[in-house]
Amino acid sequence: MSFQVRSKDLLGRVGTIRTKSGTFNTPHMFPVLDPYHQTLDAKFFKEAGIDALMTNAYLLKRGERNPEPADVHETLGFGQSVATDSGAYQILEYGEVGVKPDEIVRYQEKINSDIGVILDVPTGFRSDPARARWTVDETVRRADQAMKAITRKDILWMGPVQGGVHLAEVERSAAEMSKRDFPIYALGSPTELLESQRYDVLVEMIIAAKRTLPKGKPFHLFGAGHPVLFPFLVALGCDLFDSAAYALYARAGRYLTSEGTQLLGDIVEFACNCPACTGISPSEVLEAAPKEREARLIQHNLWACFSELRRIREAIRRGRLWELLESRSRVHPALLDCFDRIRRHSTLLEASTPTVKPHGIFHLSASSDDRPEAQRFRDRVSRSFEERRKTVLVLPGRWRRPFHEDPRYQTVAKFFEDHSNMSIWFYSLSWGPVPIELDETFPIAQTEGRDVGDPSLYQSKAEDVARLIRTLLPRNVFLVSDGEYGRCVATELMKTLGRRKIVVLDGKKLKSQTIINSVIRKMARNS
Ligand SMILES: [Zn+2]
Repeated sequence: MSFQVRSKDLLGRVGTIRTKSGTFNTPHMFPVLDPYHQTLDAKFFKEAGIDALMTNAYLLKRGERNPEPADVHETLGFGQSVATDSGAYQILEYGEVGVKPDEIVRYQEKINSDIGVILDVPTGFRSDPARARWTVDETVRRADQAMKAITRKDILWMGPVQGGVHLAEVERSAAEMSKRDFPIYALGSPTELLESQRYDVLVEMIIAAKRTLPKGKPFHLFGAGHPVLFPFLVALGCDLFDSAAYALYARAGRYLTSEGTQLLGDIVEFACNCPACTGISPSEVLEAAPKEREARLIQHNLWACFSELRRIREAIRRGRLWELLESRSRVHPALLDCFDRIRRHSTLLEASTPTVKPHGIFHLSASSDDRPEAQRFRDRVSRSFEERRKTVLVLPGRWRRPFHEDPRYQTVAKFFEDHSNMSIWFYSLSWGPVPIELDETFPIAQTEGRDVGDPSLYQSKAEDVARLIRTLLPRNVFLVSDGEYGRCVATELMKTLGRRKIVVLDGKKLKSQTIINSVIRKMARNS
């Protein structure tokens, strides 16, 4: 087996997993199939690009009539990778199950699973600290029992991390499971958090587990199956999901989209182009026989999940996962909360984001300031002052990339470049203060930002510029003011450095050579 990572962005990664039955792309969601009620066939999976499924080994075992159980690929009529769950979810639903950890391992080996799960004890959402501690210890104990029983190394075994909402327990569980060499690690117990939209807690649980687990292994999140959450979960480092939500929603007449769930009866026109939504109207689907209606919704719901996963993979390849989060966070207040929570962990996201990307990035709003590239740039700027006590020229950084190509200021800048005692900075709405030495580098020159932009950003960015210029201990500051943002920068500079040190020049008037000459004379006198 191998897990190969091809591209990374934030904590998200695009990769492939090879099992003994085939290869599939990650991030991936295993559609969970009920082995006894099948509505989908191999042809559908092929068309929809679904290369790996999951079914429940515990339910299979319980329904088994033959002493020699069939290969799970035959049972499902699916030749590619099949993962099997162990029945732990049933523990959460119904209390203890009548199967032992070593027994379910042997059964998964017998039915020739490609990916197996050991029998853990889910912590659940409402466990108190003592119960959470017990589930973690018991899961570790069962992991050891299972590992002793494992004879087939060609099956990828998943090691579940428990601990629920008790983050210290999640970390302890992840640390214990890390000591045992599982090819795949997983996080349990998110179902109730997903249902109650407590994404803030879920983000912290995932971070607690990811921080501790080995980085090179795939990370599975049990029970997540709504496309609306995929971008956020992937950005946190989830490579795999499994869910039966697509079928449960379909049964309830619910239609999944990457922007939320809709009731079939509320839809007038399908905006989706998947085969299940093509050539038929929502009202026709609604009037179809219940079986056909459900089958169509099942198919559409899976298409919706898998097209979102493809979109996420493309966003990672292009280095635009952050942009996807920004737009998806706007579709529901709970997702905005989720995104805000993720932004708090920007340092962790920074560590795994490439330093150079194949495409430029977008600065869309204040939340773009938390993206790894912005943090990295601020770090670089704050560490990069060589000489201080120079005369500082502050120019508007807008309209052109790189900033210094703006023809209005070429003449002025040229003069200053000749001047060795001069430090040249731009004030950009996306980046705040940018030294001329960096304005051609990634990502400054490649960023599409709003040049006039959001007035609510002017004040905080102007403060950033003034704060930075102050650390240069300048003798004089010449500010070329341009528009409302320029006026904000002027006010802030005067506040921080004192009125006497600042010369404000009107950006609009710089076209005239006489004005430029007078600026140059003034500069020469001052510096
Ligand atoms: Zn569709």
